[in-house]
Amino acid sequence: MLELYRWNNIFFEEIRKVHQTDGWILEQEEQDLKWHQKIGWKSYIQHGAFARFDCSSCGHKWSSARVTIQFYMKKAIHEVKVRVFGQKCRKCCDQFEEPKFDLETSVRRILGNLVLSIRKQCYGQQIYNKPRSVNNGQHTEGPHERKLCEACKHHVCNVPVVPTSLLRGTETGGTVWGLIVSISLLVIMGTVLCYQWVSSREPTRDELLQQCAKGGRRVLGEIYSWVRSTINAFLHHLA
Ligand SMILES: [Zn+2]
Ligand SMILES: [Zn+2]
Repeated sequence: MLELYRWNNIFFEEIRKVHQTDGWILEQEEQDLKWHQKIGWKSYIQHGAFARFDCSSCGHKWSSARVTIQFYMKKAIHEVKVRVFGQKCRKCCDQFEEPKFDLETSVRRILGNLVLSIRKQCYGQQIYNKPRSVNNGQHTEGPHERKLCEACKHHVCNVPVVPTSLLRGTETGGTVWGLIVSISLLVIMGTVLCYQWVSSREPTRDELLQQCAKGGRRVLGEIYSWVRSTINAFLHHLA
């Protein structure tokens, strides 16, 4: 559970800074209730927050600057639901652990960004300030392990889908290289065939153009069906 009492204190301070007197309150939401689909609820997602994690099974500790937090807010009742998305321990992959945020460096900035969004979405104010960075100056390196990320599971993570195997040159990487090499070979073959045809007899200019277009279309068709089958194999490999 989050330290909601402290979160609310900071939220109150951040709201007061912009002279907002409505008594907004923050509550933690642990279920995915799709509040944004209900009338009057607005959603704000904070990506890339820094937090620490402790595995409750094996005690392994880690930190991440790719934590996602989702807020749902409703102006009519001045209520904000907060849902934090956990991560699984890489060593035992047991369950999603809840992130632990530093109150002053992370939570204050996250809630400051939330206040910006409330002013914009609930009060229709023109906001020129950009949301503040909440990664504590940490830069995430290496691939994002989607199976360990709860936000990925719920399709709210902003980390792009790049298969890690692409970067490591494993089976999938091999497929992509195969694709590149095959396309290059097809283009070369097409050019050679075209050249042979041109050098075998002397056609009219129109004939030459027609044949080149036909050959080009055939080569493009080959490339297209090859790309399609490779992408299908690729997606199948990911699934
Ligand atoms: Zn563990
Ligand atoms: Zn993710």
